[in-house]
Amino acid sequence: MTQYVILNKTDLDEFISRLAQIKKTVAPVKRGVKNYAFEEVTSGKNVAVKYIPTILPPKKYFLPQTETLQQYDKSKKTWNAVMEFQEMIIFGVHTCDLAGIQCLNMAFSDKPKDINYLARKNRILIIGLECNDYCDEYASCKVMDNHMPNGGYDLFFTELDDFFMVHINTLEGEDLIEKTGLFKEAKEEHKKALKAMREEKRKRFKDEVNVTHNQLKPLFDKSFEAPVWQSLEARCVSCGNCTNVCPTCYCFDIEDEIDLNLTTGVRKRRWDSCQNEPFAQVAGGENFREARGERQRHRYLRKFKYPVDKYSRYFCTGCGRCSRTCMAKINLKETINELAQGAK
Ligand code: SF4
Ligand code: SF4
Repeated sequence: MTQYVILNKTDLDEFISRLAQIKKTVAPVKRGVKNYAFEEVTSGKNVAVKYIPTILPPKKYFLPQTETLQQYDKSKKTWNAVMEFQEMIIFGVHTCDLAGIQCLNMAFSDKPKDINYLARKNRILIIGLECNDYCDEYASCKVMDNHMPNGGYDLFFTELDDFFMVHINTLEGEDLIEKTGLFKEAKEEHKKALKAMREEKRKRFKDEVNVTHNQLKPLFDKSFEAPVWQSLEARCVSCGNCTNVCPTCYCFDIEDEIDLNLTTGVRKRRWDSCQNEPFAQVAGGENFREARGERQRHRYLRKFKYPVDKYSRYFCTGCGRCSRTCMAKINLKETINELAQGAK
């Protein structure tokens, strides 16, 4: 398998058109003044090659906001599992979002395996796209070690001069290269250009907070009584936006929708948020995280402590979406810096 090929920038539009003829293709497109969203495309005309993280991450294709899990009919005594999936190609996934998908894969491959999630994952081809520079001031991808490609894709595009350097990572990716038929083998000069760009990039990307990657876990291990949670208590309005837009938040609720005949119905799962007040409420009315500060602390520990204990991996990708979207201007980098300051 050839590892690297190149695509002339002038051929990108045609490449996306040919992808869309192979199967449903989604890519980042501009929405409003400064926002972007992954949406279906049929050509490269509206595809944004330079974009800040989309409003919702690609997790919406792996774990839809709502999905039907089961269908039942009491009169026939049937209770059938439902699996909703679609073949598709996602073009233009940044390295932070590739990391987010890797986190979801870990959580949903854990026992008990989530077959609905895995059925979708196995039908989605991923084409990554490198950020050669920071998307904006909210990103913390360097300290989370997600600013460079680290697997999780079929093909990976890096924009250089008048061409894209393309890394082929899987046989499915190689198949797309062959079927679209627009690529040339990369020469030594192209590889040198990639190396030079990455060297420059490494100099530009610096830890975005006052602690290093390895210091984050010990910091959060000792953070349970930190005053910063009281400060977030006073500001957070529990809207749940931060968890909805987070590429690694995957909590869901399951609800039955019974038809008016009281005989047939469906069982659905929907995204839920640990920031909603009833999230940790149990029968009898006890709520284990009644205060907003406790819920915020839980959100942070679910990124920087618990998944490291369980999967040896931070579940924050550094995408910055939670800070970008928060109407109370709660900023992840500031929270980490306040924690670090208080721990001195
Ligand atoms: S987006 Fe901001 S205000 Fe809303 S729940 Fe998250 S931290 Fe609280
Ligand atoms: S916690 Fe915030 S910065 Fe980290 S992955 Fe989630 S949305 Fe992105």
